[in-house]
Amino acid sequence: MSLVHEGTNQYQNFIDGRFTDGAGGTIDVLNPATEEVLASVPNSSAAIVDEAVEAARRAQPAWEKLPAIERAGHLRAIAARLREHVEELAQVITREQGKILPLARVEVNFTADYMDYMAEWARRIEGEIIPSDQTGESIFLMRKAIGVVAGILPWNFPFFLIARKMAPALVTGNTVVIKSSEETPINAFAFAKFVAESDLPAGVFNLVSGTGADTGAPLASHSDVGMVSFTGSVATGTRIMEAAAKNLSRVNLELGGKAPAIVLADADLDLAAKAIYDSRVINTGQVCNCAERVYVQKDVADAFIDRISALMRGTRYGDPMADEDLQMGPLVNEVGLTKVAEMVNTASREGAEVITGGAIADRGRGFHYEPTVLANCTSDMEIMRKEIFGPVLPIQTVDSAEEAVALANDSEYGLTSSLYTNDLNTAFRVVRDLQYGETYINRENFEAMQGFHAGRRKSGIGGADGKHGLYEYTETQVVYLKHG
Ligand code: NAD
Repeated sequence: MSLVHEGTNQYQNFIDGRFTDGAGGTIDVLNPATEEVLASVPNSSAAIVDEAVEAARRAQPAWEKLPAIERAGHLRAIAARLREHVEELAQVITREQGKILPLARVEVNFTADYMDYMAEWARRIEGEIIPSDQTGESIFLMRKAIGVVAGILPWNFPFFLIARKMAPALVTGNTVVIKSSEETPINAFAFAKFVAESDLPAGVFNLVSGTGADTGAPLASHSDVGMVSFTGSVATGTRIMEAAAKNLSRVNLELGGKAPAIVLADADLDLAAKAIYDSRVINTGQVCNCAERVYVQKDVADAFIDRISALMRGTRYGDPMADEDLQMGPLVNEVGLTKVAEMVNTASREGAEVITGGAIADRGRGFHYEPTVLANCTSDMEIMRKEIFGPVLPIQTVDSAEEAVALANDSEYGLTSSLYTNDLNTAFRVVRDLQYGETYINRENFEAMQGFHAGRRKSGIGGADGKHGLYEYTETQVVYLKHG
C-alpha cells in the first residue's frame, strides 16, 4: 500500500483539506542509520503558515458547533485507518528517526489508542454550576474551545506527538496547525494522507513542514493562534514563549528533562538495573523522561554498577532497517552524536571513570554511539547537570536517601524522577520531598495516557494527557443567568 494520497506527491503541506505546492525552499531528510538522503521536503515560508492558520481559523466555528461525540467520531475513524497500516507507518518512522522497528510499531499503535482515548472524553467535557449570592440567579462555568491551536513537534516520538496535540485539541472544538520537526517530517505527511482520506472537514487539521526559524517562528508568533502547544528543548521553548507573549497567546510547553534515578540500599538491584538500563537505551536514550543520571547508595554501588555495565556492554545496536533483532538504533543526527561524544569526553577529563563504552561506534556510516556507563561522577560535572539525550549513564554514589533527593532537586529541570526501594515509608518520604512533575517507584518510563505528563522548573508549563491535559485545550466562560 502506498502512503501517498492519490493525485499528490508524497511531501506536500496539507492545508484546508488539500495537499498544496509552493512552500518556498526544501530540506533534505536523512536516514540517521546510513546517512542516505530519504527525501527533500518543503521548508514552508511565513506566507504558507498564514494560509494554514487562516484555513484553521475559518473552519473552527463550525467545528466547535458540532456535537463533541461527532468530533470524536472523526478521531476514531482516523485511528482505525492508522491501525490498518501499522507496519508501513512503523517503517517510515524507523527510516527517518532511527528507533528500532518494534518500538516504532508501539508508537503507531499507541498513537491510535491515544486518539480513541481522547475521543472517549467527548461525553465527559464538564462545566460547573455554582450557587449565586443573589436570589434567582445561577452561575455556570462553561468549557469552550480556545480557537486555533499550533502544535510544534520534536523528532523523538514524531508520530505519537501529532496525536498528543491534535486529539485533545480537536475533541474540545479547536482546529490545529501542526508543524512537524525538520528531522522527521515524512511520518507526518503519512498521517495527513489518512486525514485527507477521512471525512474530517477541510481546515480542521493542517500540516506545515519546515525549519524552526522559517516555519516554526511565524507560527508561534501568529496573532490568530490562540495557543501554542510545543514539545522540544528548553531553548526553543523559551523562544516560543517570547513569540507567543507578543499576542498573549497561551503556551503549553513540554520541555527537556534530566531524570534522576535513585537506587537505595534495600532495592531489588536486578530490577533497578534492568529498568534503568531499558530506560537508557530505549530510543537510543532520546526520551525526555529517560533516566539521565543515577544516585546509588554506597553499600550497593559496586553491585549496581556491575549489573548495569554488563547490560550496557551486551546491547545489540546498529541499523534498525537492516536488523530486526536490535535493542538500539543510531542517534537522530550528527549534531546529537557530536554533543554526546563531547559530553562524555568532558566528563572523563573532569574525573568520571568510563566503565564501558565512551566512544563513537565504528559502524562505517550513521550516527551510532557506544552504550556507556560512567562511574565516580560528581554533582558539579556537566554530565550530571545537562540533558545528554543519548545512551550514556552517569552514576554518582551517595550516603543516604536524603542526600540523593537534595542532589536530584538541585536541577534546572523537573520533569521525571524515579526511586528504587522496598521500604514504603522511605518511598513516601522521598515522593514528598522530590520536586518533580512525575515520579516512578520501582519502574521507569513510559507515562500512561490517563496520567498527567508535566514538568516543573525549566521542564515546562502545563501538561499533557488525561483529564487535566485535555482541559488545557479549553477556555472557561462564566455565565450569570438571572431567572427570577
Ligand atoms: P527542538 O527544540 O530543537 O525542536 C522542536 C521543534 O521546535 C522543531 O519542530 C523545530 O523546528 C521547532 N523550532 C525550533 N526553533 C523554533 C522557533 N524559534 N520557533 C518555533 N519553533 C521552533 O527540540 P528537538 O531537538 O526536536 O527535541 C528534543 C527535545 O525535546 C529534548 O530536549 C527533549 O527532552 C524534548 N522533549 C520533551 C518532551 C516532553 O514531553 N517534555 C517529549 C519529547 C521531547
